[in-house]
Amino acid sequence: MEEDLIFKKATLALGGDIKLPEGFEIPVRVSHSTSGPGAGKDSVAFSFHGMRVKKSVSYEKGEFELREREDGKLYLTHRGEPFLDEIEFDPVVYHCPEQAFFTLDPRCSFGCAFCASPRLPEKDYKGLTDEDIARMSLEAYERMHVVAVSLTSGVMNDDVDLTAERFVSCIKAVRKVLPDIKIGIEPYADSEAQIKAFKEAGADEIKLNIQAATPEIFARVCPDLDRKAILECLGHAVRYFGRGHVTSNIIFGLGETREELEKCMSQLCEMGVIPTVRSLRRNAYNAETLRKAIGEPVPVTAEEMVEVARMHKEVLSRYGMDTRTFGTMCLECGCCDLVPFRDL
Ligand code: SF4
Ligand code: SF4
Repeated sequence: MEEDLIFKKATLALGGDIKLPEGFEIPVRVSHSTSGPGAGKDSVAFSFHGMRVKKSVSYEKGEFELREREDGKLYLTHRGEPFLDEIEFDPVVYHCPEQAFFTLDPRCSFGCAFCASPRLPEKDYKGLTDEDIARMSLEAYERMHVVAVSLTSGVMNDDVDLTAERFVSCIKAVRKVLPDIKIGIEPYADSEAQIKAFKEAGADEIKLNIQAATPEIFARVCPDLDRKAILECLGHAVRYFGRGHVTSNIIFGLGETREELEKCMSQLCEMGVIPTVRSLRRNAYNAETLRKAIGEPVPVTAEEMVEVARMHKEVLSRYGMDTRTFGTMCLECGCCDLVPFRDL
């Protein structure tokens, strides 16, 4: 991928809203997410030159502006200057393009400093049952291009086992109606029995998030989670799901050094886990909790995002790993990060 385009994707992914032309009718369904960097906002996905981003859109103002040519083709400006000569809407299935990605329950008993999900307004809780999710996945599969069903969740009632049971029942419900679809899950887990149960229920891929590059930063930003248990579960996950079918989020921009970030990526790769590397985004839901946990975070720049993605690719290559072995959730979607071997 061209150097300039990689930098533009980083600028777009980290930047503000996209302003739409007055009276413009969005030709795709608008997504109101309860997870990921855009949680709590209305957003749409776009594709350009083989890349993809999901952005909040507004008719009032935006750092970027969508413009329409006479032939109906779309392009983008950035602060009034030409930015992308062509861009298209990329239809969201549920939450992201080509995937039916559901949040079982965004409410969470834990309080990770960067996470918007538990701080979203009550009205954002959709209360989907397993049957709803299975039916919606099947309907989406029948009318759109869907490559995977993905499931995430907060931890309900402070009960990790209960949450695991909900994942299991939902995986089974989806598997029943879509026997061949790839299913990816992102639970918080703390025992081997849970990991085994996810696999036996029919999940293909799993994401267990280490979240921060060092134990010290983790203790500050995820005070209620157990880093040792996450690492142990990642080990179990590689045994049950296989190398290349397990991933783990590392958020950078939390005050770690580049060396610490590289060490964490290497530690995961050594275990057979593909790191999903995400830059910290500050928003209305996490600004206060982040300030309390780590002080005022220095915003990640597009240059840093590109440098970290290059390092990510180099570390993966060193361990013979590739993001393309993983076909669900963020590595497959690619809307919010620069994904090695897909974007660069
Ligand atoms: S465990 Fe932490 S990251 Fe996960 S939903 Fe709860 S608060 Fe968010
Ligand atoms: S990259 Fe992940 S968080 Fe972002 S839109 Fe895609 S699935 Fe959601």
